[in-house]
Amino acid sequence: MNNRLPILNIWVDPVNKEKAINIVKNFLRSSGGPHAIFASNPEKNYSVPKDPLLYETYRNADLLIPDGVAVVLAAKFLYGATLARVPGVELMEDICRLAAHEGYKVFFYGAKESVNKSAAEKLQSRYPGLNIAGRSNGYLKEKDMPELIKKINASNAEILFLALGSPAQEKWFATHKEYLKKVKVCQGIGGTLDTIAGTVKRAPEFWQRLSAEWLYRLLSEPKRIQRQKVLPLFAINVCLLKLKNCLPFKKKSDR
Ligand code: UDP
Repeated sequence: MNNRLPILNIWVDPVNKEKAINIVKNFLRSSGGPHAIFASNPEKNYSVPKDPLLYETYRNADLLIPDGVAVVLAAKFLYGATLARVPGVELMEDICRLAAHEGYKVFFYGAKESVNKSAAEKLQSRYPGLNIAGRSNGYLKEKDMPELIKKINASNAEILFLALGSPAQEKWFATHKEYLKKVKVCQGIGGTLDTIAGTVKRAPEFWQRLSAEWLYRLLSEPKRIQRQKVLPLFAINVCLLKLKNCLPFKKKSDR
């Protein structure tokens, strides 16, 4: 997108749920692809720059959704931009609803076999008419990739959901996108299939309304502290950047 906002080392697109699904509709109607949809959040700010291939893939993604409250607040603070959260799980369900309505085929790659199967069944009953053209668990070996690509292409799925977690799913896309013949939209959905299958609980609505899903997840899975410890660092760095942008004098290198 051309009005993409840089946030420290990453970017976010100024969309809400409605705009995001309209963009997905355009991707599906276009002749090109596969169009990548990834989530923007503080964790990515620290993981993405570590790997040049990941950085390029992320930078060139077709849609970077404001997945959490941190990037929404950062965009407001740095640019005065009014973004709304677009949780990956909600966009994914909107895409399934659209697919069921307009007859697009979907493919799920990722998560444990039992989770993948159960999530597929739940989505099928939630969105009658949803055409699940294929699915595969996310615990295949590298040597199985040509077979998987064949399966995805043979399924004629226009929509591919990658549920391998980050940054594995973004790296998978970077390495295999050129072999995907029919896929027009590819969304990285992390642990969404676990949430749909019910093996991981999404925060109750009360926490969602408070924009504190991250806190709920941390309290219910304390080992995520390893991943979420970047949150305060992200907040501090956003404040420092704002301060730097407000300074009357800028270093030559910043101009
Ligand atoms: N996963 C997978 N293959 C692997 C490792 C993980 O399919 O080799 C799946 C895992 O079963 C889970 C998802 O990737 O469904 C990762 O979920 P997590 O919540 O950690 O991802 P996040 O949304 O935080 O990136």
